Amino acid sequence: MGGKVYISADMEGVTGVVSIDDVLAGHLNYERFRHLMTQDVNSAIEGVLEAGASEVLVNDSHGGMTNILLEELHPSATLISGVNKPLYMMEGVDKSFECAMFIGYHSMVGGRGVLSHTFSGASCVLLNGRPTSEGEVNAMIAGAMGVPVTMVSGDQHAVSELKEVLGDLEGAVVKYAIDRSSARCIHPSLTKQIIKEAARRGYMKARSVKPYTARSPITLEFEFLQPSMAARAAYLPFVDQLDPRTVRVSAPDPISAWRLFWSALLLGRSVEGESY
Ligand SMILES: [Zn+2]
Repeated sequence: MGGKVYISADMEGVTGVVSIDDVLAGHLNYERFRHLMTQDVNSAIEGVLEAGASEVLVNDSHGGMTNILLEELHPSATLISGVNKPLYMMEGVDKSFECAMFIGYHSMVGGRGVLSHTFSGASCVLLNGRPTSEGEVNAMIAGAMGVPVTMVSGDQHAVSELKEVLGDLEGAVVKYAIDRSSARCIHPSLTKQIIKEAARRGYMKARSVKPYTARSPITLEFEFLQPSMAARAAYLPFVDQLDPRTVRVSAPDPISAWRLFWSALLLGRSVEGESY
């Protein structure tokens, strides 16, 4: 019997996406790109099923996390939709999965890729002192469960950045970024094949790829946009404020480090939109 595949799907790296208007609910073009996001995910599902997988879990990992159209999703997959998920973009991953794949991912904050960032509300995110991406942090969470990440889709920078840290990784480049807000895009009928092929190869190598591990203790350091956000994040014990805008958390294992990081980031972000 085939194994289980976990898919975390973001939106900035989806086929054709170049603008913030493409990925924000209610904005021009958002509805179009929900279809294309669902198609990119379906292409990966088709690839892994063809390679012998028997079960796929998809986690909608962008914004309000209700982007993927369930009625258009491949029926062999189940979908985690919605927010308030402790593992956020990696909710639902556990040791029962043979591998994890990232669809529609983007490059890190400061990167040259389309809509580059690293977890909204933070800038300059460092993992063990080195600039990191959502892909690397999420690969670390999967790695803590013993699950290797074997495939990613996005623009050329999203793919090359993650290859650099993970090493053995299948990449599906669906567009070539010119700037953070422009790209040379490949037609959906072709990216469908590119993603499917990469996912097929990614599933075939699941058993030979090592789960990603970060050196313990794991330290995550990041900068908020405003000092009041960092000050509020530092209300939490175990959160060190390094300077007016920068905080740091540290833990012996990846899941605890993630939980501290995420709690601090959410608490800091709660300042946004308040006026007093
Ligand atoms: Zn996103």
